[in-house]
Amino acid sequence: MASLNLRIISPEGSIFESEVQSLAFPGEGGSFGILPHHAEMTSLTSSGLMSAKVEGGDPLEFLIHDGFAQVRKNIVTVLTRSAEKPQDIDLDRARQAADRAKERLQARVAELDLFRAQAALRRALMREMHARS
Ligand code: ATP
Repeated sequence: MASLNLRIISPEGSIFESEVQSLAFPGEGGSFGILPHHAEMTSLTSSGLMSAKVEGGDPLEFLIHDGFAQVRKNIVTVLTRSAEKPQDIDLDRARQAADRAKERLQARVAELDLFRAQAALRRALMREMHARS
């Protein structure tokens, strides 16, 4: 069966690499599907669940965040700030991160980095939503 090579990379290093049958990732305008031998492209990713089909197994899921997905020569490279399997998400940590981000946004101090606080809140809320622990 035709396949493509999926690589997920974060600043911490390689998170995942394997042959998959297809995948769908959260793009800027919604879910973006990729089949083997997809045309070359580069797209922004956003926070959300990425799902990959593997032969004879359950779909693999990763919560990914802001970054890029690049397709070249049947290799899909997802460069993302971080990526977690839903079962590896620490729900308490996500709740604490969400509380911190909300406090920052509500305090509206002059030196607030609004984009950073909003991005942190979005990551935390997505982790809360997709945690399976
Ligand atoms: P925090 O403030 O809790 O560190 P963050 O959104 O700033 O959250 P990131 O910079 O996105 O964290 O991720 C840093 C590392 O911590 C990555 O390896 C990421 O997968 C991991 N990580 C962050 N939050 C969680 C969580 N709730 N459960 C499991 N791993 C997490």
